[in-house]
Amino acid sequence: MEMENIYDVIIAGASNSGAMAACAAAEKGAKVLLIDKSDSSQYLFRSFFAALDSNAQRRAGIKVDKSKLINFLTLFYQDNVDERLLWTWANHADETANWLEDNILKPNGGILRPQEDAHYETIVNTAFNTELAIATPEGGWAHYGEWILDKVKELGVTLKYNTKLEELVTDNSGTVTGVITSDRASGEKTEYQATKGVIICTGGYGANTELMKKWDPLGYKKNVYSDSPRDDGSGILAGLKVGAARDEEPAEIIFDRGAVPVGTNAEEHYVIDFKGPGYFWLGAYPLLKVNLNGERFGNESVPYQFDINAMSKQPGYLEAQIWSAETMDHLAQFDTQGCARLGFPGIYDTEGNKEEIQRRIDDGMVQKADTIEELAEKLNLPQDNLVKTIARYNELCQQGEDTDFGKEKFRLFPVEHGPYYGVLMGGRLLATLDGLRINPQMEVIDKMGKPIPHLYAAGNASGGFFWGSYPDRVPGLTCSHAQTFGRLAGQAAAEN
Ligand SMILES: Cc1cc2nc3c(=O)[nH]c(=O)nc-3n(C[C@H](O)[C@H](O)[C@H](O)COP(=O)(O)OP(=O)(O)OC[C@H]3O[C@@H](n4cnc5c(N)ncnc54)[C@H](O)[C@@H]3O)c2cc1C
Repeated sequence: MEMENIYDVIIAGASNSGAMAACAAAEKGAKVLLIDKSDSSQYLFRSFFAALDSNAQRRAGIKVDKSKLINFLTLFYQDNVDERLLWTWANHADETANWLEDNILKPNGGILRPQEDAHYETIVNTAFNTELAIATPEGGWAHYGEWILDKVKELGVTLKYNTKLEELVTDNSGTVTGVITSDRASGEKTEYQATKGVIICTGGYGANTELMKKWDPLGYKKNVYSDSPRDDGSGILAGLKVGAARDEEPAEIIFDRGAVPVGTNAEEHYVIDFKGPGYFWLGAYPLLKVNLNGERFGNESVPYQFDINAMSKQPGYLEAQIWSAETMDHLAQFDTQGCARLGFPGIYDTEGNKEEIQRRIDDGMVQKADTIEELAEKLNLPQDNLVKTIARYNELCQQGEDTDFGKEKFRLFPVEHGPYYGVLMGGRLLATLDGLRINPQMEVIDKMGKPIPHLYAAGNASGGFFWGSYPDRVPGLTCSHAQTFGRLAGQAAAEN
């Protein structure tokens, strides 16, 4: 093989986990090849990063209790995870945050902005101050993907886009010795040798409908959009082919913000496009939500994925959110968090939301009406039921206590005066989170827990860390999991 095709470490996927793995391996002196099947990756680096006791948090006087957090996560997952991975993340997330701050953000004028107001009143909303918003001092977002990719190049990593991992190469002993890639345009295959290790950082499988139907069939029904169009599961499949084990149950991160037109059949509506017309951010607010029979079916004030889970037990895998013009001037009282937050560093502002609603009315997603009966008709919900449900909801708001479902008082706001609004919604799958099983050294393991020599995985291509739903009250956890485990995998492979 030609020298130019021989590397110490090869990493597939140049995003959150892969780029961090590349930097970490190169810092250890390894000759690194980083490939990505797409033509860019800078926009995939995420804005919220979770840490516990990072330098930025220390300066702000914030410290998240590690044991309490892990305890919460094991309860959240009913322990369907590898607890060693949870501790590994918790023990290394701060050093990743500090590395990011010192090496990527500071030199380019970015900051880590900690949040300290993880307010909650109910057990289901238990929240932690893990959130670090990756921001600018002026109060905007820091688009730091380009800065990381500059660092990758500065450290001497060879970065090849439009280059897809097709297969892993192994020797007679089962050790992974390289990869076979294909060129996006020509399809031409190339073999590269990796003397120290290959790291799979290729994300999940949410854009592969066949895999979704097989590995996460309910996820396929309850989501009407998939926001990660690159996630074809190809890296996970390559790992399985050389004997890797994978999680046996699905895990997902789902937004409750997928607006669809009235009459949509959710079971057959799975649009793979993050720019889709159905992005409806107000869906993340715990306003009144009803099923397709016009009946309230639970406490709307829960982690965003729980709302979609509850909806998936209702007819038609869809829900309707109902509010009035008055609601829009009271959004601040809902005190939402993370990427549902009103005002920076969240996505929302009241005027912006009003404009978004108008856009969604124009494109036919949101319905507006002067009476509840008219709104029910436009949403194709039974009129009598919706009238009764809203009357009951207003009664609960009036009495200041949700004796039907236990929503906190500060999140009760009546739907009293027109104009009224309504929208049908399903889930937006951000990413699947189940993947190849790894050990705390980031080595991919087989069904007996034995490492496949020289094979590593990180980020959403790897598993054992999430189960079922995403704990969004630990804001920034997926990004931090991907970047932290990416760094650990890069270091481990380089040290072989
Ligand atoms: C809109 C949106 C906003 C989000 N915001 C946040 C947030 O603020 N905080 C947070 O914690 N999480 C957030 N997430 C989730 C987070 O983005 C993911 O969990 C995270 O990106 C996972 O990182 P990763 O490196 O595993 O995979 P990805 O970032 O998905 O990257 C995988 C890369 O691998 C490449 N690839 C795939 N297959 C191959 C192959 N066979 N060969 C070569 N390359 C391949 C892809 O092109 C891609 O570049 C968000 C997700 C979405 C969709």
